[in-house]
Amino acid sequence: MIIEAKKLNDGTVINKYEVHLECAHCSMPVDAEEYNSGKCSDCGEPWEEKRHVGIHVTSIPMQGKSS
Ligand SMILES: [Zn+2]
Repeated sequence: MIIEAKKLNDGTVINKYEVHLECAHCSMPVDAEEYNSGKCSDCGEPWEEKRHVGIHVTSIPMQGKSS
């Protein structure tokens, strides 16, 4: 699953990254839709985070504009 880049309220930019999540109940990969809903569509359970993440997160504080 690819998490798209987004900007947090404090201006921190999270780069696009890939995360591998599995449902702890059925071991099926959690897709973006399930990730957002919090529920595994494969087994119907709320998936629990069973993360083995090859995660590349780079947080870059937004460049402050000098005023
Ligand atoms: Zn499941």
